Amino acid sequence: MNKIVERLDLAGFSAGTQRHLTVHRYGKRGARPKAYIQASLHADEIPGMMAVHHLLGLLDKAATDGKILGEIVVVPAANPIGLAQVVNGYHLGRYDLVGDGNFNRHWPDLYGDLAARVESELTQDATANIATIRRAIGRRLDEMKALGETQQLKLGLARLAHDADIVLDVHCDDDSLMHIYIPPEHWPAYADLAAELGARACLTSADSGSFCFDETFYMAWSKLRQALGEKFPIPSPCFVATVELRGQADVSDELGAKDAAALFRFLQRHGLIDGNPGEAPALLCEATSLDATDVVQTPVAGILAYKVALGDKVKAGDHIADVIDPMADIAVARTKIVAVNDGFVLAKRLHKLVIAGHRIAKIVGTQSLKHRQEKLMLE
Ligand SMILES: [Zn+2]
Repeated sequence: MNKIVERLDLAGFSAGTQRHLTVHRYGKRGARPKAYIQASLHADEIPGMMAVHHLLGLLDKAATDGKILGEIVVVPAANPIGLAQVVNGYHLGRYDLVGDGNFNRHWPDLYGDLAARVESELTQDATANIATIRRAIGRRLDEMKALGETQQLKLGLARLAHDADIVLDVHCDDDSLMHIYIPPEHWPAYADLAAELGARACLTSADSGSFCFDETFYMAWSKLRQALGEKFPIPSPCFVATVELRGQADVSDELGAKDAAALFRFLQRHGLIDGNPGEAPALLCEATSLDATDVVQTPVAGILAYKVALGDKVKAGDHIADVIDPMADIAVARTKIVAVNDGFVLAKRLHKLVIAGHRIAKIVGTQSLKHRQEKLMLE
């Protein structure tokens, strides 16, 4: 089989412990196009690992049949640190317990001094420029040093992904419909990803301000284009997407197999795998700007009682939930939460005990919201 499985050791977190990544490589190293797919960077998001488990089966068969045309790199469980975060019987996995924050924020900046590094080498040949810029990004990553296990994990994953044509970071939301995040300039060229997955929302932002994993790769090119794009042709050769495979509880062989088949057809359509994927299904949504999606936060603690279901349409002012103070007199126990925008309910909270500030809903609208103009992805 035209496949290699590699083990990448991480530095030990403490004396006597060591974790590792497993990398499944298909096709010839350096072949184009290259796709990089990782699952469950937030280690408590299981649907991604399930889907990629099924995808490995499809890719193994394609490799056995000699159908891998490009290079496909798959990390089926991208966060072994988070996988071990079982505290008092509960699995966590979203934040680094040592203090490095959300695992999908603050990724290494691949731009930095990139313009100065490449300017003297760029020409009017866009294809040659892609190769030059990729080499420079690779050198920048080679020079970076990682102190500690989490930083090493991030650097290791970035090195695997940085020169890919397609980067898919597979997550899930809390209790949610299928959706994806993509840069606006890649819509509708890659809308078939949303169509294949049956996404109910495609949320676009040119820069969320949070240095999420997928943005790390895209932003290096867009920033370079802002700096040098008037002098040289600088394409956008790296399509990135964060895929949100519904909610945390949506884990089954059936869903995993369905999602894997969708990703496989997407890879076929974009030249990674031989074979005809057929026409993509009809889109279930159009792309909308991420700043038109409100993230509803509760101002008070208590028990969450929803008044809406996933997919429900709401108008600004509509009652979407109560938060109940279980200690209060019944007449004053409820705090009413209302929508501030028109849209539909994309995501809710699975666990129904909240503290002040917890996110309790995402409402996808079409009009940019004034209070959503800075950091688009909350910590
Ligand atoms: Zn996630």
